[in-house]
This record gives sequence, C-alpha cells and structure tokens, in this order.
Amino acid sequence: MHVSTLTLNDGNKVPWIAFGTGTALYRQDVRHPVSLAIQSGFNHLDGAQEYENEEFLDAAIVASGKPRSELYITTKLGTLQAGATPKSALEESLRKLQLNHIDLYLIHHPKSHVGRLKEVWKGMEETKNAGLTKSIGVSNFTPDNLREILEDATIPPAVNQLEVHPYLLNALQLNLALHKQYNIVTSSYGALSPLVRGEGGPLDPVVENIRARLERTRGTPVSGGQVLLKFLQQKNILVVTTSSKAQRMDEYLDTENIPDLIPEEIQEIEAAGAKLHRRFFPRCWPPE
Ligand code: NDP
Repeated sequence: MHVSTLTLNDGNKVPWIAFGTGTALYRQDVRHPVSLAIQSGFNHLDGAQEYENEEFLDAAIVASGKPRSELYITTKLGTLQAGATPKSALEESLRKLQLNHIDLYLIHHPKSHVGRLKEVWKGMEETKNAGLTKSIGVSNFTPDNLREILEDATIPPAVNQLEVHPYLLNALQLNLALHKQYNIVTSSYGALSPLVRGEGGPLDPVVENIRARLERTRGTPVSGGQVLLKFLQQKNILVVTTSSKAQRMDEYLDTENIPDLIPEEIQEIEAAGAKLHRRFFPRCWPPE
C-alpha cells in the first residue's frame, strides 16, 4: 500500500494520512486497533501524552514487526508538571514508546501553557536540537498563538493540527493564510465530522453526487468519507483519522487510489461548507 508524503518546512517528509489513537481510543489498550492499522498499511501513528496509552502503542509497534524506519510516530506534549520541560516530558514518552526518537512532537493545546508559550516553544526547539524528534509543531493554535511563538522562534513550527473540514474552512481562513506564509503543514482531525457527526447538513447531497461520479468513473465502490479525505489531500492537508474496523482502515488508505476531484467539485464542496459553521471538538479549540 503506497502512502504519499507531504514535505515539511524543515525538509522532512510526513505520510499524508495518520492513524489517530485519541478520541475513541483515549486511555484504551490500543494494541489491537493499532496492529490492525499497521497491517492495513498505515505507517503514520498519531499519539499524545494526554491519551494515556503510549505504552500500548509501543507493544503494537513491536508486534507489527515493522522496522522503526518504516513508521512515522507523532506524539504531543500535554500539561507540564512542576519542574518538567518539553524535553523531560518527551523523554518520558520515549520510555513508554520504547523508542530513541519520534518523528513529530506537537504542543497539544495552547491553553495548557497560557502565559508561557514562548518558553515552551524554546523547550520544543531543544527537543529537536537534541535529536529526540525530527520535527516539531503545534496543535489547536490560533493565528495569535502562532504569531506569539514565531516572534522568537529559531525553528518555525512544521505542523499545526486542528479540527479541519468544510464546515470550518471559513473560520480557519486566517489560520490557513498564516500556515501558507510560514510553510506550516495544516493537519486535520475531525475530518469526517460533516458525515459522521453532523449528518443532514448542506454538504451531504454535494458529497453524494461526487461520490457517485467517482464510483462510476472508477468502477468500484467509493464512500462519502473518501470524498472528504480526497478533498483534504488535494489541498495538501495532512489527515489524522481513526477507526475500530479493518475494512474502514483499508477504505481510508484506498483514498490514494480514487480519481482526483475536478476543480468544480472542490468549489462545490467549499460553497456547501461555507453555508454552515460547525465545530465538533469545541473543547480542543479556544472559544471564538
Ligand atoms: P474522524 O473525523 O476521521 O472520524 C473517525 C471516526 O469516524 C471513527 O470513530 C469511525 O468509527 C467513524 N466513521 C468513519 N466512517 C464512518 C461511517 N461511514 N459511518 C459511521 N462512522 C464512521 O477522526 P477523529 O476526529 O475522531 O479523530 C482522529 C484522531 O485525531 C484521533 O484519534 C486523535 O489522534 C486526533 N485528534 C486530535 C485532537 C487534537 O486536539 N489534536 C482532537 C481530536 C482528535 P469506526 O470505528 O466505526 O470506523
């Protein structure tokens, strides 16, 4: 299974789709779903200290038999305990993951580090300079949060992971413009929300028409979810998704093989998305 890559602003490459171990897998023994995901062909695993399951991720990686060099591992810095630094927190994650480095380390939430974002970003830079991670980035950062750390950064964030889907594209315009300016890769969670958490919205008929057109062109089944994932892939947006089912994991990865959406279809999705503003993960994002 081929998984294409995006190039980060530090020159490293990242597989465009990741298997997430948060949401439904929070505090769970993730060995089974992560093993299934690796077997399906996922080579990018997205974890976090806050998910409290990093040690199970290690067991799944070992059981997969995949060489470390073939896997891309992301984890995220949570709330810092007294006396801890991003480096000491990552060293603790590495112990749980049984790895000597990860590929991408993100600040999970700006709200966990209010008043000390610059200091925490310096600590993130230290983790990259020490070789504990190949790339560093952020998650749930607003344009103001990004500008704050960019003022003093010697290494700009490579990624900002946010809730991204067509119902939020308008609200994210400033974020996306700043990402473009600094060559920051936008990473999306909640990508499938319009279909799986917000059914009945203006996107549904548009996605269904495109799905049917792609299925006719291809001659084999295409799902609505694949249409949303392809839309993001064509915009060079990294997707972090998840599933408990092997068949759906195969479907997500198969997005790579479906025909491209034509420019008119991209515009139709954007126009339908602009008709509704919906955020499905309000706790992860600073209130507007
Ligand atoms: P998605 O929006 O991609 O949704 C995936 C979920 O949709 C799965 O639970 C899956 O269920 C379900 N699903 C997919 N297709 C269908 C369908 N056709 N019908 C019904 N249900 C369907 O991903 P999430 O946002 O849930 O999370 C992905 C990852 O993103 C998390 O695991 C985490 O790693 C990360 N994340 C990061 C956050 C942050 O603050 N940085 C916040 C939230 C998430 P099923 O198991 O049945 O296939």
